[in-house]
Amino acid sequence: MPRKVEIYDTTLRDGMQREGISVSVDEKVQIALRLDRLGVHFIEGGFPGSNPKDVEFYQMMAGRRLRTARLAAFGMTHRRGLPPHRDPLIRELLKVDTPVAAIVGKSWKLHTQKVLHAGLEENLKMIEDTVRYLTGKGRDVFYDAEHFFDGFRDDAGYAMRTLTAAADGGATRLVLCDTNGATLPGEAAEIVRHVCQTFPDIKVGIHAHNDSDCAVAVSLMAVEAGAAQVQGTINGYGERCGNANLVSVIPALKLKMGMEAISDARLAGLTEASHFVAEVANISPEPHQPYTGENAFAHKGGLHVSAALKDARTFEHVDPARVGNEQRILVSELAGRATVMKKAAELGIDLSQKQDALNRVLKRLKEKEHQGYHYEVAGASFELFLRRELGLHRDVIELDNFRVIVQKRKRAVISEAKIVLKDERDGHAIAFAEGNGPVNALDMALRELLPRRYPKLAGELALIQLVNYKVRILNEHQGTGAVTRVLLDSSDGQSQWGTIGVSENIIAASWEALTDSLEYGLIKRRRR
Ligand SMILES: [Zn+2]
Repeated sequence: MPRKVEIYDTTLRDGMQREGISVSVDEKVQIALRLDRLGVHFIEGGFPGSNPKDVEFYQMMAGRRLRTARLAAFGMTHRRGLPPHRDPLIRELLKVDTPVAAIVGKSWKLHTQKVLHAGLEENLKMIEDTVRYLTGKGRDVFYDAEHFFDGFRDDAGYAMRTLTAAADGGATRLVLCDTNGATLPGEAAEIVRHVCQTFPDIKVGIHAHNDSDCAVAVSLMAVEAGAAQVQGTINGYGERCGNANLVSVIPALKLKMGMEAISDARLAGLTEASHFVAEVANISPEPHQPYTGENAFAHKGGLHVSAALKDARTFEHVDPARVGNEQRILVSELAGRATVMKKAAELGIDLSQKQDALNRVLKRLKEKEHQGYHYEVAGASFELFLRRELGLHRDVIELDNFRVIVQKRKRAVISEAKIVLKDERDGHAIAFAEGNGPVNALDMALRELLPRRYPKLAGELALIQLVNYKVRILNEHQGTGAVTRVLLDSSDGQSQWGTIGVSENIIAASWEALTDSLEYGLIKRRRR
């Protein structure tokens, strides 16, 4: 029987500490649902005491049924001099009502005395009392031993006593945190083994940071030494140098160490999940990331290509399909075929008998990707792309031209748009509108114009709202210079969809994402 290892994801809490990441509550929910689909066992959504956004996240998750994951909320040992039931942070933690509560406490003498200003015995009591209180409230309590490895190096006896306190309070997991990321894998393994032997009846977890570039190695060694839970984040996001990257940890556990972590079918969704989280966080997916990067199984050198084609094992450490990635031979026309067929089938379009159409779509898709289109979070634009290429969609919005003027007058900045649509019946259809920015002005002008031309659409159109607008400058494609990419999320109150626009000009990119959003919204409403 393979040993089971729990995957505890903290992308939504620790991962969000990475500089430059900021996601809305709605985006956090999207990430949580994707993580559940990936099959992680625990999702830590945030620190309810610290942030009203996190409380809102748990409220929004309350009605959702998760398939594989249990939700965890993060908190700390109660404040000095304030019993747990009166500590406001602990009250917030109970209010969000998750099955799991992760409680962080101090393991290091130095930290206890210098930062917490607590006595050593007092700290032990705070740990035990907090854990016991939450356990009594029906929570499954995971105890996060902050700075455990530093504390162990400084005074192993005291560090171990903090774990005993948590265990006495009823903690069901003792999670050893390498908070500073200082520990090397060999030493980590020794310490984890010692803890596992001391607490044979409690599952031990590992929470490693990557400051020594060893977070994944420390996590895997900890599992070898007996740890039953790995905490980390998707793509290794986290403050400073990041957290243990679950995208590397999960396949290593499964494919190389023979552990049971997530199912084979779910593992095949790893690449998509990794890219999805990157796109939602508005960070370019790292092309050289192990397992899921675009180049992780790309072969360029002539000899490598022929060897890899004869037997992929010559230059591939695992079968890319196991993690949902694919071999990419940089000259091959075949790559992506299965992916496109599968996606088309999901949209009800059968391409299996239409080889010519499929080849054409693939060729166009490659051109688009080269220009900077990535469809992971722009599913609506991908569907429109396919339908247009296959002649299954006629655009409602046919532009003749638009003009946008932005004028700054004293303190006010005014944006005005003029849109001229092609109109075969009565010459040109024109609308003007003002907005709080150029894209908003274009949106307003379209909403003015479309109902006039298509009165039946007026009601439908009014339901479609833009909920999120993200811009990124892409510099990654040599030869084409920098381009701007715009991602839009829209909603009709019942569901949400994403669209994309790419151009050297930000307004043109926004226009493309905007019109795709409306086109798609209208198809969707009509289908209902
Ligand atoms: Zn951490």
